[in-house]
Amino acid sequence: MDDRLGYSDVLPRVELGNFPTSLVRLRNLEKRLGGPEIWIKRDDQTGLAIGGNKIRKLEYVLRQAIDQGVSHVLTVGGIQSNHVRSTMAAARVLGLSPVAVLGGKAPEVPTGNFLLTSLLADDVIISDSSNLMKAEQLMQERAEELKTEGHQPFTIPLGASTSVGAMGYVRAFEEFADQCEELRIEFSRIYHASGSGGTQAGLTVGKNLLGLETQILGVLVSKDDYFSCPTKILDLTLEIAKLLGRTDLTIKKEDIILVSGFEGAGYAISSPEGSQAIELLAKTEGILLDPTYTGKAFAALVDHIENGEIGKEERIVFWHTGGLPDLFSEGALIQS
Ligand SMILES: *Cc1c(COP(=O)(O)O)cnc(C)c1O
Repeated sequence: MDDRLGYSDVLPRVELGNFPTSLVRLRNLEKRLGGPEIWIKRDDQTGLAIGGNKIRKLEYVLRQAIDQGVSHVLTVGGIQSNHVRSTMAAARVLGLSPVAVLGGKAPEVPTGNFLLTSLLADDVIISDSSNLMKAEQLMQERAEELKTEGHQPFTIPLGASTSVGAMGYVRAFEEFADQCEELRIEFSRIYHASGSGGTQAGLTVGKNLLGLETQILGVLVSKDDYFSCPTKILDLTLEIAKLLGRTDLTIKKEDIILVSGFEGAGYAISSPEGSQAIELLAKTEGILLDPTYTGKAFAALVDHIENGEIGKEERIVFWHTGGLPDLFSEGALIQS
């Protein structure tokens, strides 16, 4: 590597989003909460079809699809999945046929991400069970069918949280570190919502590559075990390190910090704390969060400020991962 920004170029990617996303200070919120210094990284503004964190992962994953000369892109998620919506839009940009496989009950009148996915996809397959393993299986079956019909399908697993997809967040950390250097500031902590774990794994590898001390706290949004857990994220970081030829990196289990207690009643069900957090950021800064991921993650940040876990002298950043269409879904109804 000739400079410290070289790692994200180890793998090729396609350009899908608007980068760098802005990193800005939230002075109104700071005043309201009485310190510490709070910034936000706007990955809700990555651009493509309402943006969010999946765009960064898809830049790497879909480059592989292009290189393999595929015709169809299939992926899987919940009915209101941001990942599926983003993948459908990205496939369109690249001239590929997008196929969505969704687990759960579709709303009678299409709303939120389901509405957008229906608009973007060539084919939307619904597995009535909210068990996403079943949806995964349906996706594989559909891919097999496409193959026998003479097509070349490419399947992307839940959240695109493969080592290749997580490279998007190694790159994101490099981008962030650049911005910090330009501003001549350092952060003690990053808070973000953790789902399938790729975001946290990528950020953690990025941090280790650059040797920064910033703590990365992934806030859990579900108690289901196919979502984030420390061993899964740790394994993913090791896979990424291998991909980068940096098996010398020593990422330990203690580096994977998951914050629990803000999941509410479950995945994609809004929580009272999350709804209050959404309202707080909207009314202080005019910035919108979503009920499934970022509202819950932001609630953890606010709680950690209020209970003194975050010192008043600290400088922290909330990494906004997007999810805005979910504000317009059934599960979202604000209940504060
Ligand atoms: C998918 C998603 C996350 C979680 O990212 P993972 O890499 O799956 O952990 C967080 N926020 C939003 C809005 C998402 O769509």
